[in-house]
Amino acid sequence: MLAPAAVHAASTAGAAKSISVRGILTKSPDGKPALMATDGKLIYLHGDPDTMGVLNDKRLANMDFEALGHFTSPGHFEIDPIHERAMFVHKDGKRLMITYWCNTCYIRTYTPGPCWCCQKYTDLDLRESVDE
Ligand SMILES: [Zn+2]
Repeated sequence: MLAPAAVHAASTAGAAKSISVRGILTKSPDGKPALMATDGKLIYLHGDPDTMGVLNDKRLANMDFEALGHFTSPGHFEIDPIHERAMFVHKDGKRLMITYWCNTCYIRTYTPGPCWCCQKYTDLDLRESVDE
């Protein structure tokens, strides 16, 4: 347990360490992206627009999902910005990064949508690592 003073110091430093939440990616009763934690609690997920695009990707629904970020209030979790690569899927014992791939242009992106080059809708591509 951190003393209240230590918690205050961490939050004002602006570099509070991210924590991880894991569960099944689902939707809340009001249609918002949410995580069904292993204890059955529903955690609302929020993030920047690209992060929200990933959370709303139907291809990821009901997957074993992990996100890094912090709780803004009990039951509400703010995911780290998309460039932090803060979202993962666990599959076959592996922790996979969520990426999107255009197999026409060989362009990788990190949110679903049309390829910025040829406008083809990108494929979901779960990867163990990403070559930058
Ligand atoms: Zn393309």
